[in-house]
Amino acid sequence: MTKKRPNIVLILTDDHAAHAISAYGSVVNETPRIDEIAAAGRRVDHCYATNSLCSPSRASILTGTYSHINGVSTLETPIDASQPTFISQLREAGYRTGIVGKWHMGEGEGHNPQNFDSWAVLRDQGEYFDPQLLTEDGVHIESGYVTDIITDLSVKWVESLDGDEPWCLMIHHKAPHRSWEPDPAHADMYRDPIPVPDTFDDDYADRSSAAKHATMRIADYLTIEDLKEFPPEGLTPEELALWKYQRYMEDYLRCVASVDDNVGRVVDWLKERGDFDDTLLMYTSDQGFFLGDHGWFDKRFMYEESIKMPLLVSWPARIAPGAPMEQMVTNVDFAQTILEAAGVEPHARMQGMSFLPQLTDEPDRPTRDAIYYRYYENDDQHHHALAHYGVRTERYKLIYFYNDGMGIPGTSPHQFVPEWELYDMQVDPDELHNVYHRPEYAQVREELKVTLWELQKDLDDRPHPSQPVPELLATSA
Ligand code: CA
Repeated sequence: MTKKRPNIVLILTDDHAAHAISAYGSVVNETPRIDEIAAAGRRVDHCYATNSLCSPSRASILTGTYSHINGVSTLETPIDASQPTFISQLREAGYRTGIVGKWHMGEGEGHNPQNFDSWAVLRDQGEYFDPQLLTEDGVHIESGYVTDIITDLSVKWVESLDGDEPWCLMIHHKAPHRSWEPDPAHADMYRDPIPVPDTFDDDYADRSSAAKHATMRIADYLTIEDLKEFPPEGLTPEELALWKYQRYMEDYLRCVASVDDNVGRVVDWLKERGDFDDTLLMYTSDQGFFLGDHGWFDKRFMYEESIKMPLLVSWPARIAPGAPMEQMVTNVDFAQTILEAAGVEPHARMQGMSFLPQLTDEPDRPTRDAIYYRYYENDDQHHHALAHYGVRTERYKLIYFYNDGMGIPGTSPHQFVPEWELYDMQVDPDELHNVYHRPEYAQVREELKVTLWELQKDLDDRPHPSQPVPELLATSA
């Protein structure tokens, strides 16, 4: 068994859903180069974002903490970049550290990347073509397509290193984030009709009010900037919705195709250097994405397509290729997993658990029984997703929309009573039927509320003031 400290490459895309990766059984595209990572290592089937939004997920990955601890709970709450991260821990242990691409956790004093030997990051959401890159020396423009440029600069940084100390490289792509602008090399792909998900016509009838309140329906809320062309005239509403879906997915998948090519470049480059076997290579995305599921684009909700992160991991020196890992992990766990692989102690503040044992010599070791989720942006003006939190176990999902009317300033007011949702994913994997009020689920419901309560306590979060004490706790007291 090698004792060599691995190099680490974390490829993080933005909004790349697992169901647009062929290793996960995609029916809409092929991603042969991303699949190579799974073939050389493991596919993780139950990896979840703990707050399904770009900046918060990035902060959780970096710091190994939940949003309420790292402070990046929304897109409007920049990171205090001086807080401990797996990068600061690695650097202290002698790793060289670099990041190229999307940062999106604030810009300026205190918010720019820290503890990186080299950093070059897009400003805010960044541009697909001729992007501006911020470095220690200021802002400059790189000409070309962003996914290629991020890969070029990433490789260039590693090639510039001397010496034998290991290195950690974060390749953070902008793609395939809205507004889904493909490069000319992929612009003609996916002309054939793209399969439409079964839940495309979801009317949210058997759900709380939150799903109906959101403005994320493809049929109604994609803009002309998203679609990039006007629809043909004379379509029925149903035909128009399908036309928009096709247009959306074409560009989304074309952006993914460029990511796939560039992942292939990284894999080839690692192999050519003779580094592939001793590199912990991870491919993931900051969250999932609705690809017409429930009629939606975007993410935010605690529903499965949104919170599920793709995660493919290879490290041939330590990880034998094998069956998909089934245990539940979260983005908060990445930091400690990477640190354990590097033989570096985690920071005491980190809240996750390493899943390296499950990937290496203890494949059956349990992780956790339940994951905690919390989405903070309340009724933002573009998506109108309402704030909520909840727990997901292997079988069930309990969600609490507190509906307190305290939305983001300047957005549409709403004032409802709190609403709960409960899904039994064993009988309803698409999460179409809220069974919270069904008597046969009363016991499960109250047990999950206790789990929620306990997780909030363990993780130092504060429940919303309206959250009732679970009956099971109230009666046993
Ligand atoms: Ca994202």
